Amino acid sequence: MDCLFCAIINGDIPSKKVYEDEYCYAFLDINPQAPVHCLVVPKAHISSADDITKENSTAVANIFVAIPKIAAELGLKNGYRIVSNIGEDGCQSVKHLHFHILGGTKLTENMA
Ligand code: 5GP
Ligand code: ZN
Repeated sequence: MDCLFCAIINGDIPSKKVYEDEYCYAFLDINPQAPVHCLVVPKAHISSADDITKENSTAVANIFVAIPKIAAELGLKNGYRIVSNIGEDGCQSVKHLHFHILGGTKLTENMA
């Protein structure tokens, strides 16, 4: 499968790793939208949050267990935002489920 984030997880494309465990990989976004901008992806390919099922949900649950550790690693003591874009209207550009962790400043109240 031709998937950018699968290639990053496999190490075929270099990335700045922040965290890794059995189920997920976290790395810095190449085009940061905030002072701290990290992406967390499941190691198993899931196309988007719209493709989460009971069968693949363990990996997703694990991501949300990992996120507080990742946020601490990134020094986000004062809060942060988690975003996942889905499909055309959600402006998802990479079709491998990912959660953006954004922080390092007071974020805008706008979400759309
Ligand atoms: P989306 O728009 O799908 O929600 O988010 C995709 C994100 O992946 C974007 O924020 C974009 O900057 C990031 N991205 C795209 N290509 C690469 C890459 O090769 N390396 C890294 N680290 N991030 C990437
Ligand atoms: Zn993938």
